[in-house]
Amino acid sequence: MDTIIDPTKSQTTMVTARQTQTIEQINLDNLAHNFKVFKSRLEPSTRTLALVKADGYGTGALEVSRRLVQCGVDYLAVAAVDEGLPLRNALGPRVPIIVLNPNMSDHEAMFNINLEPEVYSIEQARILIHDLQRYRPESFRDMPYPIHVKIDSGMHRLGFTLDQLPDLLDLLAHNQVLRPVSVFTHLSVADDASEDEYTRMQLAYFGQCADLLQSAYPDRHLLRHALNTSGTMRFTSSQMDMVRLGIGLYGIRTVFDGSEDSLLPVASVRSVIISIKEWDAGTTIGYGRRGKLTRHSRVATIPIGYADGYDRHYGCGAAQMWVAGTLCPTVGNVCMDAVMIDITDAPATVAVGDEVEVFGAHVPIETLAQARGTIPYEVLTSVSPRVARVYV
Ligand SMILES: *Cc1c(COP(=O)(O)O)cnc(C)c1O
Repeated sequence: MDTIIDPTKSQTTMVTARQTQTIEQINLDNLAHNFKVFKSRLEPSTRTLALVKADGYGTGALEVSRRLVQCGVDYLAVAAVDEGLPLRNALGPRVPIIVLNPNMSDHEAMFNINLEPEVYSIEQARILIHDLQRYRPESFRDMPYPIHVKIDSGMHRLGFTLDQLPDLLDLLAHNQVLRPVSVFTHLSVADDASEDEYTRMQLAYFGQCADLLQSAYPDRHLLRHALNTSGTMRFTSSQMDMVRLGIGLYGIRTVFDGSEDSLLPVASVRSVIISIKEWDAGTTIGYGRRGKLTRHSRVATIPIGYADGYDRHYGCGAAQMWVAGTLCPTVGNVCMDAVMIDITDAPATVAVGDEVEVFGAHVPIETLAQARGTIPYEVLTSVSPRVARVYV
């Protein structure tokens, strides 16, 4: 690969050149495979909802959604109306899309593209009803708008508690413009076996709330759903009418009992070596002289830095990259646009222009997350937009 940037070329060309050096490769076949892994664990009648919030956990909501719709996913969910707009445009009117955190100022746009809001508080429900009367196109005025009622069973973030539900029922009965399609809750510790009692409490509490809401709609079944990825794996018998799959679809494990070992990583970040130098023991590398070589070393420079999402905590040997079959640790601090790695133990044939894996099949996201003191979700969602997404 030609890694030399011609200074006479335009800024755009330079960005393009950079983007061909460090890319995030998204394997949509692995995504489809992961979807099937989950499907095979569920009853055939259980629906699936795919979380494509935060641009599909950073992997590209549009491409991911297209593929999952082909695979037969029933629902999509985004966090904000802005995130739903390109999906609605690309996927057409039929795929139901839930908005988990509808911004009240986006209601008009939300109605226009038929996104289905989560309803999580009485105040929000009131504003929704008010805005429906104001903004709903004339032709849809008399049709009740689909909503999804969120129950707070123990996360204590958003949602109705049991004692708040009668107010909601009252509001819904007096304003027949909202039609609850589903009732759901979100588990806080589904991945933690030591907290299973709490999860069972959440599920039981949710059941009570769902029964109460359902009793107001005797002639129509409201879909019930509670399980995220780890819930689906660990509390499969509570799948109810639908499960909500996020991180597992992207091939990242949340439980380590072997049940998720067949998931395949969807995202991998690759870069190239743009420079190699040999230094004697005692030489220091990078800002702050934090990388002190303890032996004669070959050090390679990789064009990925903290501005690309390669967190500064990965520096000074905390993380490794895969180079020609060898795990090579970082040396010194991560820079904004680059990082140095020690390739002394890699084959001597490794040369400028060779590919390195930043994360993927050989450098699990889970390992990087540990190096940074966070969870894989954050590693996956923090690959910056400067890193071009390439779909295979
Ligand atoms: C993000 C999210 C999920 C998915 O969680 P994962 O752990 O990624 O499977 C499910 N439900 C809700 C409400 C969410 O916000």
